[in-house]
Amino acid sequence: MKSDFQLQARKTLKSAKLYRTKSRIAILKVLAGAKRPLSQEEIALRLGKKHLNKVTIYRTIESFCAAGLVHKAFMQERTWHFELANHCSPTQCHPHFTCTNCGATHCLLGLSIPIVKGLKKGFVINRQQVRLEGLCPACT
Ligand SMILES: [Zn+2]
Ligand SMILES: [Zn+2]
Ligand SMILES: [Zn+2]
Repeated sequence: MKSDFQLQARKTLKSAKLYRTKSRIAILKVLAGAKRPLSQEEIALRLGKKHLNKVTIYRTIESFCAAGLVHKAFMQERTWHFELANHCSPTQCHPHFTCTNCGATHCLLGLSIPIVKGLKKGFVINRQQVRLEGLCPACT
C-alpha cells in the first residue's frame, strides 16, 4: 500500500507537470520533512541511504524551482537554501529570521509583511522575500 506521502507527492508532481521519478519523490520527502530551508548539501545528507549524486540533486531542485514547487528561500555562506513553496503566497514568501549569534534560520509561518510601496516607476514586483536578522529565543 502506498503511504499518504507517496500519494501526496504524486499529486504534487502531477500538478507541476513533472514526471514521477524516485529522486524527485525522495527529495520532495526530505523538503516536506524539514522545518527550515535546506542547502543542497543538507538535502544530500538527509537523503542518507538513498544516495543520489550531486548532479541529480541539483537538477531535481532546479526542476522543482522552475515549476514553482520549491523556492530559493535565502542565501547563506554563498549557498542557496531551498524549501517547499507551500507556505508562501503567490506574491510573497513567508519571512525568515536568522539569528546573528547561533546562525540558525527560522521560518516565520503565518506572518505576513505588507508588500513594499513607493517603488520608482518601471519596477515591477513579482515576489517579495523578507529576511530578518537578530537574536533567536535561545540566544536572547
Ligand atoms: Zn517562498
Ligand atoms: Zn540563536
Ligand atoms: Zn521558510
